[in-house]
Amino acid sequence: MKLENKIAVVTGAASGIGREIALRYAEEGAKVAIADLRLDAAQATADEFAAKGHAAMAVAMDVSDENEVNEGITSVVKAWGGIDILVSNAGIQIVYPIEEFPFASWKKLLAIHLDGAFLTTKAVIPHMYKAGRGSIIYMGSVHSKEASVLKSAYVTAKHGLIGLAKVVSKEGAAHGVRANVICPGFVKTPLVEKQIPEQAKELGISEEDVVKKVMLKDTVDGQFTTVDDVAEVALLFAAFPSNALTGQSLVVSHGWFMQ
Ligand code: NAD
Repeated sequence: MKLENKIAVVTGAASGIGREIALRYAEEGAKVAIADLRLDAAQATADEFAAKGHAAMAVAMDVSDENEVNEGITSVVKAWGGIDILVSNAGIQIVYPIEEFPFASWKKLLAIHLDGAFLTTKAVIPHMYKAGRGSIIYMGSVHSKEASVLKSAYVTAKHGLIGLAKVVSKEGAAHGVRANVICPGFVKTPLVEKQIPEQAKELGISEEDVVKKVMLKDTVDGQFTTVDDVAEVALLFAAFPSNALTGQSLVVSHGWFMQ
């Protein structure tokens, strides 16, 4: 097992990509904290993992609230003694043309993606520095590298995470702490299911065309990326044995974006 005795916090792990990453980590021997805004859903996920014999705990956390982040991280450290891996994954999507984008929605999206990444990083890093090791993984997107219409806030936030990861990798190096970004293409999770009718309405096209002509248009094979694909990359970043792999962003998108 690649993560035996490691302690991982995954934000937004009650659903979608975060949930699959947490499960993969647990299957590789890690203790996993399922941190989510929705405590009932996080608890249901943790209970399900525990029933499979994994060590899992649910943590109530709005990643954009400093007190909730600090209390949540403290509760994990109290329970298990430290934190080896942070996956800053919680995220939302809001789509509008820029001239109609409500300022409050812009601020909300940036707070969840960027304040959330900053606050969780700030909270775990003293524990990682103390232990002399740690892996921090940010959930970016192809939209960390590429733009799409209607997604000004999301594209801005996802680009920002790459900057944060680069700084954390430089500051963390002396303490054995690495930071990397995963950049998935479209993955069919509740976040994307919600966007399909919204984009169809905004763009005046059918839902089928949103999938074929917008979301998967530039992939090499017209396929969605899966939660398994993303979890595989998250495992690579978490389990990598040295500080060689840091400050990087890896695109997993069926060739939608090629570097
Ligand atoms: P999802 O909606 O299935 O899951 C997101 C989870 O985050 C939910 O459980 C939700 O309760 C939680 N969450 C939302 N706001 C929160 C907050 N303030 N504090 C704590 N938890 C909060 O979405 P997903 O598709 O699994 O997305 C996860 C991450 O992956 C996001 O950062 C998203 O931007 C990124 N991503 C998704 C795709 C995709 O196609 N689905 C592609 C690239 C990147």
